[in-house]
Amino acid sequence: MSAEIIDGKAIAAQVRADVAEQVAAFREQTGRVPGLATVLVGEDAASQVYVGGKQRACAEVGMKPFDVRLPADASFERVAEELAALRANDEVSGILLQLPVPEHLDGPTLTNMVPPEKDVDGLTPVSTGLLSLGLPGLRSCTPQGVMALLAHTGVELEGAEAVVVGRSNLFGKPMAQLLLERNATVTVCHSRTRDLREVCARADVLIAAVGRPRLIGEGFVRPGAVVIDVGMNRLTPEQAHNKSGLVGDVDFAAASQVASWITPVPGGVGPTTIAFLLRNTLQAARRQAGIEA
Ligand code: NAP
Repeated sequence: MSAEIIDGKAIAAQVRADVAEQVAAFREQTGRVPGLATVLVGEDAASQVYVGGKQRACAEVGMKPFDVRLPADASFERVAEELAALRANDEVSGILLQLPVPEHLDGPTLTNMVPPEKDVDGLTPVSTGLLSLGLPGLRSCTPQGVMALLAHTGVELEGAEAVVVGRSNLFGKPMAQLLLERNATVTVCHSRTRDLREVCARADVLIAAVGRPRLIGEGFVRPGAVVIDVGMNRLTPEQAHNKSGLVGDVDFAAASQVASWITPVPGGVGPTTIAFLLRNTLQAARRQAGIEA
């Protein structure tokens, strides 16, 4: 069997087009546009690329970007001051503190300074608590993107065996919560899991977010499973067998022989993350304007 490829770029483009349409409607209704502020501390090359992408995407759908950049040696107080200013700014609907922050800063405490109603990354304790309780709130972007990819495949989640490899606060835990909300039977694996291969091979839906190139190899994928590869590992283009040098956590050649659907890397999960960041920003703006979202 040869798996069908889940085209993350096309799915993300649809979400972005939908957001752009709704931003136009929001503007007509309120005379304002949603605003997204990104806060980047330091000059980390990958973070600069990510923030640049978010800023561009924001402008493309008609939102107002706020691009806050601080030097790598910025003090905790300096970053906190910026966050407080954005918190008070009515034009800013959503705030994203780009992680990781330099080591001398306390990332979790700074993240927690983003108020829940502007927490478009869905990473503050309040947002994660709301998710855990199944209450309305802003949800983490990458897990939402994965849910959209799964919806595209038509896989029935109710009662399905879903295995998430990785238990980070950023992805693994909120992913497991979203799958539970849809009544999947969810197993979360991590570095201490005994016999990872055996657990993965039970999955109807297998989601890998580890950060280890091709960890999910031969024998890990049950025939007919849907495989979502969240991992983004940078190798040389020769090692990766592609121009971008990016590979996922799944051995694509082996998994695509047996899976029913599979995401490529790049072009799978990645593009959907920004699309759902935009959707979260629109949702935040609508709530702040008193419009049902
Ligand atoms: P992370 O915080 O480093 O978490 C990695 C997780 O993998 C941990 O839970 C760890 O277990 C587990 N792990 C490590 N080695 C393992 C092994 N041999 N077997 C099973 N589990 C193992 O990483 P993250 O932030 O979740 O990101 C994971 C990957 O997804 C990275 O490649 C990242 O770049 C990518 N990512 C992509 C997007 C996107 O938009 N496409 C978004 C988020 C993340 P312990 O908890 O026991 O240490």
